[in-house]
Formats: sequence, C-alpha cells, structure tokens
Amino acid sequence: MKKKYKCIVCGRIFPEGQGIVIKYGDLVLSFHSNRCASKFLRQLLERIPPDEIKGYVKRLVEENLEQLESLAKIKAKKI
Ligand SMILES: [Zn+2]
Repeated sequence: MKKKYKCIVCGRIFPEGQGIVIKYGDLVLSFHSNRCASKFLRQLLERIPPDEIKGYVKRLVEENLEQLESLAKIKAKKI
C-alpha cells in the first residue's frame, strides 16, 4: 500500500508520488500542491530574520541565474 501524506497547509490527504514532500532534518514537510508549498515558503521567509538566511538565498538565486545562462548558451548553440 502506498504511503499517505497530509498537507501541512490545508490538511488534505494525498498518496505518495503526488504533491511535494520535503525531508528537512527530522521534519517531513508535505504539501498536496504547489500552491500550498508556495504559501508555506512565503510564511517561512516572512518569519526568518532576513539577515540570517540572506546569504543563502542570494547564493541560490545566483546559482539559478548561472544555470539559466548556461542553458541559454546551449540553446543558442543549437540554433
Ligand atoms: Zn494543501
């Protein structure tokens, strides 16, 4: 039988393989939809003092941008 998860934002029950399940340390964050996950992310970011995670967020944004740039370069080469 498939494992079931409960969305921690809206309480909806969903089976394994659907939704978004993130293991964070000893916590399991389960969301039935992208919408619930983004709501949680927003609340989380509002609650964490920016000074504490700004460095990580900034680095992650930069890494993503770099990845996008290299993907764009690959695409440009193909055309
Ligand atoms: Zn939900």
